[in-house]
Amino acid sequence: MSISERQANIRIVLVNTTHPGNIGGAARAMKNMGLAELYLVQPKEYPAPRAVWRAAGARDVLANATIVESVDEAIADCGLVVGTSARERRIPWPLLNPRECGEKIYLEAEKHKTALLFGREDRGLTNDELQKCHYHVHIPSNPEYSSLNLATAVQVLAYEVRMASLADEQGNLPSLTDWDQPPVSAGDLEYFHEHLATTMADLKFYDPENPKQLLTRMRRLFNRVRMDEMEVSILRGLLSSVQRTIKK
Ligand code: SAH
Repeated sequence: MSISERQANIRIVLVNTTHPGNIGGAARAMKNMGLAELYLVQPKEYPAPRAVWRAAGARDVLANATIVESVDEAIADCGLVVGTSARERRIPWPLLNPRECGEKIYLEAEKHKTALLFGREDRGLTNDELQKCHYHVHIPSNPEYSSLNLATAVQVLAYEVRMASLADEQGNLPSLTDWDQPPVSAGDLEYFHEHLATTMADLKFYDPENPKQLLTRMRRLFNRVRMDEMEVSILRGLLSSVQRTIKK
């Protein structure tokens, strides 16, 4: 299967981009590598002529871009979400290198929507945004100057998706493991986390005013597990039953 057959399932998400030139540059980088689906979360200045100039022959990618209000909205229907990071973060998270990231996104895009998140030019993605991701990916740049230009980072990771598709054409990629249920979407997973947090608060297992670390740990746990739709609906049923019991 070629990359163009998966195009609609591989989404590049740019969060709160400041410079419209970077949006155009990202669109061009995408089209060069065969990608087409661009989501913009609250871009600072958009539409803008500078975005169009930088997009050059990829104006169609810009013209078809979807503008949304939040990261949640951008990833709600995705079964795999990968966040990019220019530096190491405090809480360790499952990591992919760019090659593994390209392969994973390419393989999973055969079955469901996937998203690759890119942060703000000045401060990247927030911790909350990074915690919505199954994996983080870091381009192994010079540790003394690790932050790439946003559109350049898009280029590197889009290139890796293309390399995965070329490897697949030559029969050099494993196939996706068969599974009986689709993975839970990021949107449904978000509802699950809300439900879990309310239930834990009802149980007085945690104080909503206080330890946020618990919720982070729970997010990391469930992102690592990669639950399917059926598993989430079982757990939500369990939470509802716990809530009914304590309210009696
Ligand atoms: N000062 C910010 C740098 C953001 S660079 C920070 O420390 O987070 C803007 C965006 O480009 C990042 O959010 C990320 O999406 C991408 N990017 C830049 N360098 C990268 C790298 N080495 N690996 C992965 N993504 C990178």
